[in-house]
Amino acid sequence: MDADEGRWANEIQNAAPFPDYMVIDGDRVSAGPRDRIETCDPGSGLLLHHVPAGTADDVNSAVDAARRALSGPWQSIPPRSRGKILWAIGERIRGGLDRIALIETLDSGKPLRDARASVERAADYFTYYAGLTDKLEGTSVPLGRDKVCFTERVPIGVTGHIVPWNVPLSMVARGLAPALACGNTAVVKPAEDTPFTAILLSEICLEAGVPPGVVNVVTGTGRTAGKALTEHPDVRHVTFTGSVSTGKTVMKAAAGHVASVTLELGGKSPHVILRDANLDHAVPDILNAVFKNAGQICSSGTRLLVERSIQDALIDRLTTKTSAMRLGHGLDNPDMGPLISSRQMQNVAGHIDRAKERGVFIVTGGEPASVNGCEGGFYFQPTIAAPLDADDELAWKEIFGPVLAVIPIEDLDHAIEVGNCTPFGLAAGIHTRDIAKAMRFAREIEAGQVYVNGYHGAGDTVPFGGMKQSGIGREKGMAGIEQYCEIKSVTVTIT
Ligand code: NAD
Repeated sequence: MDADEGRWANEIQNAAPFPDYMVIDGDRVSAGPRDRIETCDPGSGLLLHHVPAGTADDVNSAVDAARRALSGPWQSIPPRSRGKILWAIGERIRGGLDRIALIETLDSGKPLRDARASVERAADYFTYYAGLTDKLEGTSVPLGRDKVCFTERVPIGVTGHIVPWNVPLSMVARGLAPALACGNTAVVKPAEDTPFTAILLSEICLEAGVPPGVVNVVTGTGRTAGKALTEHPDVRHVTFTGSVSTGKTVMKAAAGHVASVTLELGGKSPHVILRDANLDHAVPDILNAVFKNAGQICSSGTRLLVERSIQDALIDRLTTKTSAMRLGHGLDNPDMGPLISSRQMQNVAGHIDRAKERGVFIVTGGEPASVNGCEGGFYFQPTIAAPLDADDELAWKEIFGPVLAVIPIEDLDHAIEVGNCTPFGLAAGIHTRDIAKAMRFAREIEAGQVYVNGYHGAGDTVPFGGMKQSGIGREKGMAGIEQYCEIKSVTVTIT
């Protein structure tokens, strides 16, 4: 072991113990004779630890526990008290921020400052939805003198949460907090590559007063544990974030027992730069939109649609900044960290190699990167490909890595046409000083969220979700509640 590898081994040692069990009905369930799934530190490639490869039987136990908890003490906790418990979860997450963020960085590779921000975001989801538990009111419907009709919001029941690896804790919290706020129970299946912070969160829930069985975590593969969860007839709603193809499989499985779904899937989001844009402001925003989390964000601004007259000047400025970006281990707070796995690195490299074979010009980057002291890590250079035809694969396929595809456009109409020409409809951004153009873009672009002069400009209180193949349903904000309640009407005839 060389000195640098020794440093990362020490960091991993200091962060231990990693939770290597599932949480079912409030109990820790360790691997025992089951297979285990190993997870590693993407920054160094070193083994972190392992978790149980949960089976269909484990999922059955967790769903049974969640079903029992639904009709147990959880139901008798008054809404305001439920809110206090959610608030306490948020506070405990904040109290454990240093350790949780350290584990999130080691497990996912993201820079520590981003891990800290996403742990805070997870806490915010709980405190936001804590305030809503006693405000989930119904309505009354006028049916005439001899009838009284009212509606009430009731929990759906057991909810399943299948989570990806790119923002692990915050994505669990995004679904779990509103599900609990509405009085549901939950079974969470974290991603194979990043299981630890979901397990920690389930224990925080118990400590904060959530009764056993309300929040269960089954670790394991999508093929086994994920599939069993989506097919379970007692799971009444599935919240899934991940790829479009797995999303379709999840939707079909849920259809088998007519469970509802929230799907947050992929994207290839257009970021339009018109010639009147303030480039001093736009340049850092473009880079943050595409390279944050090494491009592993579903809503990243990966398609840059640039008005032709400013294309060369803008590409020059972006190239200078991009080639100076510092790659490194997440614990060193670099400009950009590693990709999640060697599989994801090969995936990104494959896209770029095929593009090069087609004759696409790579302005900067385009290769796996070697980072001093992190030779075992999964780094890929921040990459710009320009200029691209709108129908080139690189310009419309989701890559989920640090790759910016630059496409010249003639004017706003052309930007809208090119912006809408993919199967996705997740996010879109525009930089312009012309408010009329910005508003027309916002109206005509097919995207669940539109950012004007500041990408990723919203937050946890703003509804988030996709149009077209980017998904179904909305998470975050007040809209996030709608997925987790049923509306029941009661009509009384006065006799
Ligand atoms: P994936 O969609 O296969 O996995 C996401 C989650 O679904 C994981 O927890 C996985 O275990 C689970 N899963 C897999 N198969 C399942 C099944 N049949 N039934 C139920 N659950 C199942 O994503 P991935 O393989 O981790 O990544 C592949 C691609 O997905 C990426 O390259 C990227 O394009 C996309 N992705 C998108 C997001 C997003 O935020 N929208 C996040 C991660 C990955």
